[in-house]
Amino acid sequence: MSTAEKHETPAAPPGRSEVEVAIVGAGLAGTVLAITLAKAGRKVALVDPHRVHHDEFRAEKTRAEQMALFEKLGLGQVFRSLVTPMTEIDIFRFGQLFEHKQASEFAFSYAPLVNGMRAALPPQAPLTVGKVAEVSTGPDRQRVVLADGSVIDARLLVVATGYSEAVRRAIGVERVEESKAHSLTMGFDLAISPRDFGPTSIAYYGKRIADRVAYLTVFRIGERIRANMFLYRTVADPWVRTFRENPQRMLLELMPEIAARCGNFALASEVEVRQVSLTTTQGHRRDGVVFIGDAFATTCPAQGDGINRVLTDVDCLSSTHIPAWLETPGMAADKISAFYDDPVKVGADARALRVSIYAKRINTETGLEWRLRRLRNNTARQLMILGRKISHREELPTASAA
Ligand SMILES: Cc1cc2nc3c(=O)[nH]c(=O)nc-3n(C[C@H](O)[C@H](O)[C@H](O)COP(=O)(O)OP(=O)(O)OC[C@H]3O[C@@H](n4cnc5c(N)ncnc54)[C@H](O)[C@@H]3O)c2cc1C
Repeated sequence: MSTAEKHETPAAPPGRSEVEVAIVGAGLAGTVLAITLAKAGRKVALVDPHRVHHDEFRAEKTRAEQMALFEKLGLGQVFRSLVTPMTEIDIFRFGQLFEHKQASEFAFSYAPLVNGMRAALPPQAPLTVGKVAEVSTGPDRQRVVLADGSVIDARLLVVATGYSEAVRRAIGVERVEESKAHSLTMGFDLAISPRDFGPTSIAYYGKRIADRVAYLTVFRIGERIRANMFLYRTVADPWVRTFRENPQRMLLELMPEIAARCGNFALASEVEVRQVSLTTTQGHRRDGVVFIGDAFATTCPAQGDGINRVLTDVDCLSSTHIPAWLETPGMAADKISAFYDDPVKVGADARALRVSIYAKRINTETGLEWRLRRLRNNTARQLMILGRKISHREELPTASAA
């Protein structure tokens, strides 16, 4: 070999890339992180086995706080183009209209949301479609080998593979079930036109403890009227099978007060059912790798905190930790731990877990403590209804005098 040849940098073999951050999993968490990092000038690789995220029943609604996070991450406009905004909601408690209020909610189907975000990936951070065959992590360099033999070398590996266990298992982390089969979410379309349904969404809270229903929410996604019902049952419960066989009859029995608003609960789709457990992760403080979104923890959809956790993880990493980690050599576990100890992340995760557990207990527990808590909450709500009725009556003469 000539001296000139010896000093030549060998051309990178095909299928080998060198990035600052390799992200495995292009769901909401992985995709939004890839966009934010790439826009900040970071060299990023994003890997997922599927070019197009498949249709699946997942998050379908989020609120103003999450919109604020999308805005903060520079994705407010993209998010707005993918969702149906709602500004008013009727809340039913005790089988009656409890409150009509201004709301700021955004509805979407999950796959179009993820695919719409993927479409916003900048050209310098394209999606690599591939199956991860091998992962190795360490205090300095991380390596991801795909099934086709291509190799991604990175300073940091981010695992954003949602519920999937393959990559997590390969790295050696463990899911801890905080509450197995914690809740059940059902999703279905109602056979009522948006014109007949009107602009106001509905939230209907369960009336009886025995029903084990947290609430039903009905809202518009484009031209569809969609319902999400959150329950504390398992998929194996015969009640669930009966519901799937005749949802209209069961809904009419459960919540007749809103039947007229919902086209008498005639359904325009199958009932989709998803069981969710509350989980956290153990053994994640490791050299070179960080776990985010549902790959780190899962909470109850009824509380709507999933997307909040995803965006909080992305925001903490992209605005604070990853820039700091890349500034200094190495990627040891003590550096990575700063993310898991970040009070903003810890607060978002803890809140999601706490409210998930509280909501189930307040809706299902029959012990004295919980009966007293329900009595206190319900008395306060009944007093609010009474107060409103009295002030409405007092306003009437004034209104007619005017
Ligand atoms: C029924 C249901 C209703 C919900 N409702 C709400 C709600 O109303 N509001 C709310 O805020 N949250 C809700 N959630 C929670 C919310 O959907 C999740 O928290 C959020 O979608 C998690 O996003 P993620 O990016 O972490 O995971 P995902 O979106 O699951 O993304 C994981 C990605 O990893 C990829 N992947 C998997 N394995 C591999 C692999 N080996 N290699 C590479 N890539 C891989 C997958 O293809 C996927 O693209 C709900 C959840 C469920 C189940």
